Amino acid sequence: MKIRAHHLLCVLGFQGLGYSPEFIKKMTQVKRIIETSSRLPVKILNSCDEICSACPNQQNGRCQKGEYSHKRVKETDEKVLSVLGLKSLDILSAGKLLKLIKKKIDSFQKLVKICGICGWRETCTYYTGLRKKWQKKEGRYET
Ligand code: SF4
Ligand code: SF4
Repeated sequence: MKIRAHHLLCVLGFQGLGYSPEFIKKMTQVKRIIETSSRLPVKILNSCDEICSACPNQQNGRCQKGEYSHKRVKETDEKVLSVLGLKSLDILSAGKLLKLIKKKIDSFQKLVKICGICGWRETCTYYTGLRKKWQKKEGRYET
């Protein structure tokens, strides 16, 4: 399987919402495979993947969600690769990748730097889960 780096995080936080029925179907499929096939080799990309191929925002191999989306999502991929100590086209098993992500991106502060102003933050359990932990630790109330 090939997956763009930041989609690894999105898949972990995916709760069945998305840009179109085809996109949701693909995300559901990729999430199930990544989370249940720990030996599966996964090639990490900093470009469009099969999730993008099922997304209505993808055109000609580029993310066209907004004017600057192609550049912005590539930068997000690079941030994830850098935090994980990987480079584009590296191949790891799904199990090792998930362990690495949970080890290296284990705080809300780290995730905020990666996700920026992603519009799915409130429905992404990876994001809301780490935020909740941070709020609890800081003794803050949920907003
Ligand atoms: S907040 Fe957005 S970019 Fe970050 S992991 Fe969730 S869906 Fe992906
Ligand atoms: S085309 Fe853009 S919005 Fe769609 S899945 Fe790919 S990166 Fe996300």
